[in-house]
Amino acid sequence: MKFATAVSLMLAASANAFAPVLNTNAGTSSALSMSKVERNPNFAKLAGGYLFPEIGRRRNAYIEANPEMASRIISLGIGDTTQPIPEHILSGLVNSASKLGTKEGYSGYGAEQGMADLRKKIADKLYNGIIKDSEVFVSDGAKCDIMRVQQVFGPGVTTAVQDPSYPVYVDTSVMMGQTGNINEATKQYDNIVYMPCTDKNDFFPDIDNMPRADIVYFCSPNNPTGAAATKEQLEKLVKVCKERGSILVFDAAYAPFIRSPGVPKSIFEIEGAREVAMECNSFSKYAGFTGVRLGWTVVPDELTFADGSKVRDDFNRVMTTAFNGASNIVQGGGLACLDDEGLAEIDALIDYYLENAKLLKEAMESIGYSVYGGADAPYVFVKLPEGKSSWDTFSEILEKAQVVTIPGAGFGPGGEGYLRLSAFAPRDTVIEACSRLKEAMAPVAA
Ligand code: PLP
Repeated sequence: MKFATAVSLMLAASANAFAPVLNTNAGTSSALSMSKVERNPNFAKLAGGYLFPEIGRRRNAYIEANPEMASRIISLGIGDTTQPIPEHILSGLVNSASKLGTKEGYSGYGAEQGMADLRKKIADKLYNGIIKDSEVFVSDGAKCDIMRVQQVFGPGVTTAVQDPSYPVYVDTSVMMGQTGNINEATKQYDNIVYMPCTDKNDFFPDIDNMPRADIVYFCSPNNPTGAAATKEQLEKLVKVCKERGSILVFDAAYAPFIRSPGVPKSIFEIEGAREVAMECNSFSKYAGFTGVRLGWTVVPDELTFADGSKVRDDFNRVMTTAFNGASNIVQGGGLACLDDEGLAEIDALIDYYLENAKLLKEAMESIGYSVYGGADAPYVFVKLPEGKSSWDTFSEILEKAQVVTIPGAGFGPGGEGYLRLSAFAPRDTVIEACSRLKEAMAPVAA
C-alpha cells in the first residue's frame, strides 16, 4: 500500500489527525467489565497523543507500507542526542555506579532536592554565584519538572505560551484543568494565552499587547524556532511580568548552544528576575543525558505568591512528597559534567551539533528557503512557501527523501507554515539528509 493511502486510511479512521491508535473495546465489551471510575475530564480535552509518539507512528506507518525503505530512513525529527557520552563525564557515571558495590561507598535514598555538592556546583559553575545552592532543585529532567511546576500552581491559574512552543507547557496545562476545550477552528485551547512568535515579530511576542496570564512559559533558545532572545528582549519580558504580577517559568534547556556574545544563558542574568522567574534546565542536551535523566529547577527565595508565601517552599513540598531524588549514579555524572574536563567535553559536543545545524541551514538556504534558528540552537526552522501545510510537507519529505522532520503545526497553530529540522543526528546522516532535502525540496517557486 502507498504511504499516502495508508495515512489517509488512518486519518479517515479518526476525525482527529492526532488521535492515538486505540486498542478499542469494540466487539469485546461484553467480555470486559468497565470500572465505575469517571475519566478525568481534562484528559478528554487533550487534542490527541503527544506530538513525538505521533511522529513515530507516522514514520512506522510509512515503513510498514514501504518496508524496502526502512534502512534509508534518516531522523531529523525528535530532538534526541546521538553522540556517545564523552570520557570524563562517563567516568563520573561509572565511578558512582561502582561505589554502590562497596561498603563505604554505598548510598540509599538521597536528599529529594539533590546532592549538596551537585547543587553547589550548579550554582557556582553555571550561574556564577548569582543564585544560591539552596535554590537549586536537582531532578530527573526538565520535562518532569514542568509537570511539578504545574502541580505547584494548580488548576486555578491562567497560562501564556509562545506559539509555537514545546508541547509540554500546553498539554500539562490541559491535564491540570487550567484550560477549556480546544477550539477546532483556531486549534487553541480556551483560557490559554497564545503569544505568536513568527518571522513577522522576530520570534519574540508582542507582550505589551497580550492579555495578562498568571504563569508565562518562555523557552530560549527556543524549541522549535531556534530563536535565542536577546538581553533587551528578556529585560522587556521580566519587566512586563513584574508589572502584571505574573510568574515567568523560563526553560533554558538549550542554554549551552548559545554562542552569540551578550545573549543571556539564564533568565537570572536579567536584573529583577529573581522576584519574577523560576528556571527549568537539564543535562539532556548539555551532555547527551536524554536517556540518563538529570535536570534541575531554580526557584529563587524572592519569588512569592500573592499571599507572600514562597514559591520555593511549595516546590520543595512537591519534590519531597512526589519525588525521591535523582539517581545517585546519575548525579555522579552531573558532577563530572561540571568539572573543567566535563565542561570542555560539553563544549565539543555542542560544537558538533551546531556544525550540523549550520549544514542544514545552508542546505535549505541554498535552495531558496528562508531559514531561522540553527545558530544558538540545535533547531533549524524552515519557512515553507505560502499556503503549504507543514503536515503535508512532513509526509512529502518522508515519502520522497525518507527524512523524518517535524511539522511546525505540531508545536501549536503558530508553527503552521514551518518545518523543524533537528541537528542532533550523526554528521554523516546530516550530510546525506542535506543532499536528499536539496533534491526533494528544490526549487522553491518564487
Ligand atoms: N524543555 C525543552 C524546551 C525541550 O525541548 C526538552 C526536550 O526536548 C525538554 C525541556 C526536556 O528535557 P528533559 O530531557 O530534561 O526532560
